[in-house]
Amino acid sequence: MPEGSIAQAGIGCHFMASWMERDTTGLIQMGGEGVDWASHSMFTKTPHVFQNLGDGTYFHSGILAIRQAVAAKANITYKILYNDAVAMTGGQPVDGSISVPQIARQVEAEGIALLPIVSDEPEKYRGHKDQFPRDTTFHHRSELDAVQRRLRETPGVTMLIYDQTCAAEKRRRRKKNAYPDPDKRLFINEAVCEGCGDCGVQSNCLSVEPVENELGRKRRIDQSSCNKDFSCVNGFCPSFVTLEGAKLKKTEGHAFDPAELARRVDALPVPHTPLDDAPYDILVTGVGGTGVVTVGALISMAAHLEGKSASALDFMGFAQKGGSVLSFVRFAATDALLNQVRIDT
Ligand code: SF4
Repeated sequence: MPEGSIAQAGIGCHFMASWMERDTTGLIQMGGEGVDWASHSMFTKTPHVFQNLGDGTYFHSGILAIRQAVAAKANITYKILYNDAVAMTGGQPVDGSISVPQIARQVEAEGIALLPIVSDEPEKYRGHKDQFPRDTTFHHRSELDAVQRRLRETPGVTMLIYDQTCAAEKRRRRKKNAYPDPDKRLFINEAVCEGCGDCGVQSNCLSVEPVENELGRKRRIDQSSCNKDFSCVNGFCPSFVTLEGAKLKKTEGHAFDPAELARRVDALPVPHTPLDDAPYDILVTGVGGTGVVTVGALISMAAHLEGKSASALDFMGFAQKGGSVLSFVRFAATDALLNQVRIDT
């Protein structure tokens, strides 16, 4: 957010901005983004808000929220976050076909005049400007702050489309050779790093990690989560080393011996499952990729095979972003004892 502005959160992984001290708050149902502001704005001295809206939500029902904002003559700027995937639920393609030029044309028809496009690759629209409304402007993401300041000074409903492929999706597509993969990697020389943290500020990237050594806290790049955005070098730090054509070493897996596994499983004690007249609850917790959902599924299936009643409720929306994942697993001797799938406080 530009200094002095606030944003309202919406449904999607961008909701995480509201946990990150980014002047972003609020919670409303999918497709209701900005609807609350039309009335709220009449009871506050705050003249304007930004409203975040993902591309999937836009296509599903968010365009109706924009229409109502125009009808209500609200003073609001919608930020359409075009990341090219339903990133929160596993990176599925957005239902239907929706492109940045299509969104621009649709909202122009809804009466939105000021419509800058901001992207990490604005040059890709060179030669395609005729697909957009006539007054559309194109900006590199380094201009985001200035663009937002201009939008908030413009009365009425304005919109910004931020076009950048989801970072988690980039990594997944690269694994399938379905996305360009620059043949270079960045490393931080810990012997040179002074631990100032500027690379994290410049890049705002979760792959820049703290690492402690005998000289204090330094930084390193987590190569497995790096999306090769390379913005961490924007600070012009001498600690960075760029390797071109380098491949990561693969760690050797442990030799797997099925007989040894069977022997170890047989040696485990049979767990005591105290199922009398009350349910038994297990809350499995972790982050994305650690097997939380698998554990919940295995345990509940095992209970089912033993003829018990079982339920599993998984919260995994943020798994793609390295966020928390929960599996609420409940069993009971009979179905009648399992009233709800959530474990209460
Ligand atoms: S790598 Fe450079 S910018 Fe990052 S913490 Fe170390 S000295 Fe600072």
